[in-house]
Amino acid sequence: MADKRDYYEILGVEKGISQDELKKKYRKLALKYHPDRNKDQGAEEKFKEISEAYAVLSDTEKRSKYDQFGHSGVDGRWSQEDIFRGVNFEDIFSDMGFGGSIFDIFSGGGGRRRGGAQRGSDLRAEISISFEDAYHGIEKEIRIPRTENCSVCGGTGARPGTELKTCSTCGGSGQVNRTQRTPFGHFMTSSTCPTCHGKGKMVDNPCTECHGSGRIHKKRKIKAKIPAGIEDSSRMRIGGEGEHGSSGGPPGDLYLDIYVKKNKKFKRIGNDIVQGVPISFTQASLGDEITVSTLDGKVKMKIPAGTKTGSTFRVKGKGMPNIHGYGTGDMHVKVNVEVPGKLTEKQKELLREFAKLRGERPAEENHKGFFEKVVDGVKEKI
Ligand SMILES: [Zn+2]
Ligand SMILES: [Zn+2]
Repeated sequence: MADKRDYYEILGVEKGISQDELKKKYRKLALKYHPDRNKDQGAEEKFKEISEAYAVLSDTEKRSKYDQFGHSGVDGRWSQEDIFRGVNFEDIFSDMGFGGSIFDIFSGGGGRRRGGAQRGSDLRAEISISFEDAYHGIEKEIRIPRTENCSVCGGTGARPGTELKTCSTCGGSGQVNRTQRTPFGHFMTSSTCPTCHGKGKMVDNPCTECHGSGRIHKKRKIKAKIPAGIEDSSRMRIGGEGEHGSSGGPPGDLYLDIYVKKNKKFKRIGNDIVQGVPISFTQASLGDEITVSTLDGKVKMKIPAGTKTGSTFRVKGKGMPNIHGYGTGDMHVKVNVEVPGKLTEKQKELLREFAKLRGERPAEENHKGFFEKVVDGVKEKI
């Protein structure tokens, strides 16, 4: 412990680094060394090292103590668990697609067995939300069927008030030894007891609720908080909402895939929103102030005189919010200048007058269509 490396050095950052930059840097390193991705020797150790450094430096209080006193300002003051508490690793890892929580890595692994205790399986569910819900954020109630420990017998499988009996096959050890005779001598192999599956105990009077299995299937209601700004096809991890672990093992996690429905009016590009708005020929020519809808109500927007069709105007801050809370995108309004369809005699007259003033030939004289012009062109060539 005496030769612990400097936290800033571990992350390769300067002392005055901002929290934003620190997070970015940590994400980059975590992506490189996360044991789910990097199986090289030493990668896991490296991952633990950078995670600890990040946990301390991303916490204002811990960082200031570390800046003043170095490692002695942190070690002893906080336990390892304290150091990692409060750091939102889920937020960092959720969009990187890593399973298991950071604590699983520190305690020696996701589904790996620890003395018969087994972590529950992870579950996956999907929901779809509207474009508006993605903009505002929403709390959604979902029902997840999952396996839980029986609440009547507490997961033992034995009827309450009755005792479990010691497994007669393994004598309670959960392991069976077998001697194998080979040309090289006798070998002793040990494996999990097939009768009690390693538990060492057997159910004599099965629980009536779960019929001795200790497990029941239940539909569970979960409230998932979907943050504002969530993108289509995002994955959220809800820790501990997977299936219950067995023999005291921790529960698995629930992975929630979120789909955002398309919107007729708005299209999302990054955190910006794009929409098309029709304006009239006169509005485009003379300029006007129009009202455009955003997900946050209507806003007024100026159309300058002489606007061409396809021109895009920006309404600042009316895009999607950044999912991590850093600002908001913009709204881009693309205008489509509409040519008037059916005209009254009076309108036609005024337009002819207008054309004349612009020095255009009146429409009646200009009767040769596109096809005839092409034909004329061909004739000239011959
Ligand atoms: Zn047994
Ligand atoms: Zn039961």
